[in-house]
Amino acid sequence: MRWDNLTDDGDHGRAADAALFGADAVTTRTFDTPEFRGITFHEVRARSVLNRVPGASRMPFEWTVNPYRGCSHACVYCFARATHGYLDLDTGIGFDTQIVVKVNAPEVLRRQLGSARWQGEHVAMGTNVDCYQRAEGRYRLMPGIISALTDRANPFSILTKGTLILRDLPLLVRAAGVTDVGVSVSVGFLDTELWRTVEPGTPAPERRLEVVRAFAEHGIGCGVLMAPVIPYLSDDPERLRETVRAIAAAGAVSVTPLVLHLRPGAREWFMTWLDRHHPHLVPRYERLYAEGAYAPRWYQRRITRQVHELAEEYGIGPARSGQARRIRPAAPAPAPAPGPAEPVQLSLM
Ligand code: SF4
Repeated sequence: MRWDNLTDDGDHGRAADAALFGADAVTTRTFDTPEFRGITFHEVRARSVLNRVPGASRMPFEWTVNPYRGCSHACVYCFARATHGYLDLDTGIGFDTQIVVKVNAPEVLRRQLGSARWQGEHVAMGTNVDCYQRAEGRYRLMPGIISALTDRANPFSILTKGTLILRDLPLLVRAAGVTDVGVSVSVGFLDTELWRTVEPGTPAPERRLEVVRAFAEHGIGCGVLMAPVIPYLSDDPERLRETVRAIAAAGAVSVTPLVLHLRPGAREWFMTWLDRHHPHLVPRYERLYAEGAYAPRWYQRRITRQVHELAEEYGIGPARSGQARRIRPAAPAPAPAPGPAEPVQLSLM
């Protein structure tokens, strides 16, 4: 593994910051419990955890914090797979099972937030890999991170598929009392069979909607990033309808669709999966993604229009600022920009 490449630029590729970790700072562990069987954790001590997003003008956020690299949620389509390659780690099964943990992330963040140079900008989490993946149950980094942000009244947002976020609900309520906090949950579809094979390490979609429901019951507006919409597998009108209906019933305050994109690293892994589970679709995918990582504009527009119409029908309004307890949905990716420019690089969390 190339630890000298372990820069904290997981959101946007191999950026130019100095290396954040030294090889002597790495401790490798395994845990012989069912939930962590087969997973190797590489514990590192980070020198910095606040990452500036290159090209932030195209993003709804400029700064991110990612306490983990790799993700045991193991979504086949995850764009962050490519970032594991920068460490000379495998972008397929290695991304799912070799997890880098920045064990000192809370204390480093607290120090960085206290720097005279820090201007208190919004910090986004869950934009590269899931900060509430299973490892968080053991390492418990997020409570310290949330507390550090709260103590500085620093605005932040979290996007997740992890039901573990409910553990930190009291902390998030406390944070919302002093700053703007955004929470979004990612639910692309409800189909159980599809979920089991394409997002095998994640909580079931229904359980994720329970997170939305729990936040709503606490008077906290939670948005849903409907991602990814998977062509020919979750995009027919009835499936879109059942998904949006369930999102509305859970009490989501907004829904933002995002069509599957297949960047290098994810594309190979996804196409292997597709060939195994839905071989008849391979030629259609090769045509749909013939131009690159993104589905054509006409397709993205069609899905966006359908989801927006359904959202209106089921009464899901747009996210509003100043909602109860100052919590609002985490800034989701804007709809992918058509044309040659690349859409926001979210991991389809
Ligand atoms: S899409 Fe999100 S939840 Fe799924 S593997 Fe990637 S980072 Fe984890």
